[in-house]
Amino acid sequence: MTQEALPITVRNVTKTYGRVHALDDVSLDVKSGEFLTLLGPSGSGKTTLLMVLAGFTRPDQGSLKFGDREMIRTPPHLRDVGMVFQNYALFPHMTVAGNVAYPLKLRRTPKAEIAERVERALETVQLGGYGERRIDQLSGGQRQRVALARSIVFEPRILLMDEPLSALDKKLRDRMQIELRHLHEKLGMTTVYVTHDQREALTMSDRIAVVNHGRIMQLADPQSLYEQPENKFVADFIGDSTFLPVHREGSSIVAGGTDLTVTRPVPEAEKHLLMLRPERVRLLTGPAPEGVNAFEATVTDLVYQGESYLLYARLRDGTEIAVRGAIRSETFAELPKPGATAQLGLDAADTVLIADTEG
Ligand code: ADP
Ligand code: MG
Repeated sequence: MTQEALPITVRNVTKTYGRVHALDDVSLDVKSGEFLTLLGPSGSGKTTLLMVLAGFTRPDQGSLKFGDREMIRTPPHLRDVGMVFQNYALFPHMTVAGNVAYPLKLRRTPKAEIAERVERALETVQLGGYGERRIDQLSGGQRQRVALARSIVFEPRILLMDEPLSALDKKLRDRMQIELRHLHEKLGMTTVYVTHDQREALTMSDRIAVVNHGRIMQLADPQSLYEQPENKFVADFIGDSTFLPVHREGSSIVAGGTDLTVTRPVPEAEKHLLMLRPERVRLLTGPAPEGVNAFEATVTDLVYQGESYLLYARLRDGTEIAVRGAIRSETFAELPKPGATAQLGLDAADTVLIADTEG
């Protein structure tokens, strides 16, 4: 990279379409050189926010800065932003090189320089020597690489990607996730990436902003987001979880009939839920060790899933919880069958309480 990466500052951005709040008072800081992902369900406002950053959508209110410069009034082609879309948006009648050269032609780059930069961009995405191919001769993965080469060929300081891998099959997507990550490490540009796939977000991001109904529900690094979600929406959207209502009896915190040992901070709230991740709950064979919260339950279902099993069990209060375990460490045949009583254990360190609020 010849140019320095730039931080992005979004302040109080609102965008409505009729009665829909596509963006509802969004503020966000993307650090210089960071890979930040907007993660949320369909219709949550991810694309709208990306379009505001790119300059294709003008918000009703709010401010946007790249570095120290206010950008809201700057047209897209003067924002120095590279973009990759889900559907590639390549020109099918042009060659690979023609497509990649396009942003340089728009910027009136000298001809001699164009050829060299196009080839360099193609090498970066591992398509060196593909310049003369036609777009319709390429596979989906190769087309997405061409779109990527086109977005980085003019060395933008900011790269925006909107579900760029969602049209690819799973194996290719997994590989491209790692490749995009490497490419980001190499080029170092500030990157805002959009996906609705939580695993993709966890795999790729320095930080993730979880978006719902045009609002940011939580912004954190992948591990904090998974282990200490701040609200039920985030806990539910990222990973699997069951929630148990919690009540207080004096200084005790009780859930599912068990007096909980808690090591993590309990958020300020009137009501709480205990978050149970299936892979953090385990079957106990003897009495619960020190620091493990135990729940007595009746097994309702047991499912073989190849690398792991999934066991469903009902607590005394009627709540059903799921337990996932590796099949290598426990023989499937030895697991308790439906109808059997099981002791389920949850380490105090995995005992995460969440404020039970709507939103
Ligand atoms: P996402 O990318 O997270 O799926 P979008 O940003 O595309 O969500 O959309 C957010 C909300 O705004 C949706 O309810 C969508 O229908 C609405 N919306 C987005 N763009 C337009 C538009 N041009 N006209 C009307 N409604 C729109
Ligand atoms: Mg979208």
